[in-house]
Amino acid sequence: MADILRRRISILGSTGSIGVNTLDVVAQLGGRDAFDVVAITGNSNVDLLAEQAKMFGARLAVTADDKQYAVLKDALSGTGIEVAAGRAALVEAGERQSDWVMAAIVGTAGLAPTLAAAKRGADIALANKECLVSAGDLFVKAVADGGGRLIPVDSEHSAIFQSLEDDQRHAVERIVITASGGPFRTFSREQMAGVTVDIARAHPNWSMGLKISVGSASMFNKALEMIEAKHLFNVRPDQIEVVVHPQSVIHSMVGYTDGSVIAQLGCPDMRTAIGYALTYPDRPKLNVDRLDFAKLARLDFEAPDEIRFPALRLARTAMARGGVQAAVMNAAEETAFNAFCDRRIGFLQMADIAEQVMEDMTGYGVAITMDDVFAADGEARRRAGDVIARMEMAA
Ligand code: NAD
Ligand code: MG
Repeated sequence: MADILRRRISILGSTGSIGVNTLDVVAQLGGRDAFDVVAITGNSNVDLLAEQAKMFGARLAVTADDKQYAVLKDALSGTGIEVAAGRAALVEAGERQSDWVMAAIVGTAGLAPTLAAAKRGADIALANKECLVSAGDLFVKAVADGGGRLIPVDSEHSAIFQSLEDDQRHAVERIVITASGGPFRTFSREQMAGVTVDIARAHPNWSMGLKISVGSASMFNKALEMIEAKHLFNVRPDQIEVVVHPQSVIHSMVGYTDGSVIAQLGCPDMRTAIGYALTYPDRPKLNVDRLDFAKLARLDFEAPDEIRFPALRLARTAMARGGVQAAVMNAAEETAFNAFCDRRIGFLQMADIAEQVMEDMTGYGVAITMDDVFAADGEARRRAGDVIARMEMAA
């Protein structure tokens, strides 16, 4: 009997920052007694993946890294937990019957497995914003056609989701996305030019994975979030505002036609948004810090600077041009981010590369199928690689 009542869940990217926080929430809400963990996936950190699989009684554990198959198999031998590796196995993890799937793989690598889960009608808790940036309306349609719900996990989008009144969508005037401003909020372009990945990854308020931490420093993460908001909430680009709010207490807001603004606040802890996505429309009881307003004393706001942070401008360009420009921007930036981590290019060059590849690919139209999205993504990566090579030659 108990088995029938246990909610079947899968976590794509369980070993990352969001994945670990998701399992913490799952544990807080009853762990294996309340949840049937169908599948979990990771990449190279198979020790953690094996430990999680055992602790939560997962039925399938998948590593994206083929070379780690034997290690994972060995670590889980005798447990009865099924083990698999590689990209096709990731998709299979998404396909396995479950009610709710946390999409928390980083980057475009998350698109295919998340789509597989969406198509079979699972509720998708979406942390992987790249799915929406790359595939946009095609992704939204895949979820709708599958019949599951799309529940945002990104803190800003969870805040907007929570601040939207369902029967008042027509009265929404604007969406205000807050941004901490990252570690370089007060840096000049000259100061940013020389920073290394270790400096860029140190976020003032949130503890997150490497890609999103660096993306917060360049505000490229905010650029992705603007496009994410457009698709999630079906608003026009001119209805999307970004405001820098260094305390990260207001997670985002919705402005209505009567002048009211509704916001969601909380401590910067992703478990609140994850818990909401897991139990929606109910609210779970979570052991997270509570806001102390007297201690907080003040909330600050400032306009974002699109000269020092060109990523925001690129997001507006991508939305205005339409077609596959957002997928191109995302793929070019992901390629540039990897080159920055490998110390092949400087911090400011990441936006230069994205801008140039976007410019070069303006002739690419709308994606009709997912294959068009993957083709644009691949082409943008190839072109970004060429730009990076030319930059290295020139340096
Ligand atoms: P992370 O780097 O900590 O974890 C990423 C996960 O993806 C890990 O499980 C890793 O093993 C897996 N992975 C990495 N490369 C892979 C590949 N090629 N194939 C398959 N799996 C791979 O990242 P994160 O910070 O947890 O972020 C995950 C997603 O959630 C990102 O899209 C990010 O933008 C989004 N997000 C994160 C936060 C946060 O607080 N960390 C907040 C909002 C949104
Ligand atoms: Mg966010």
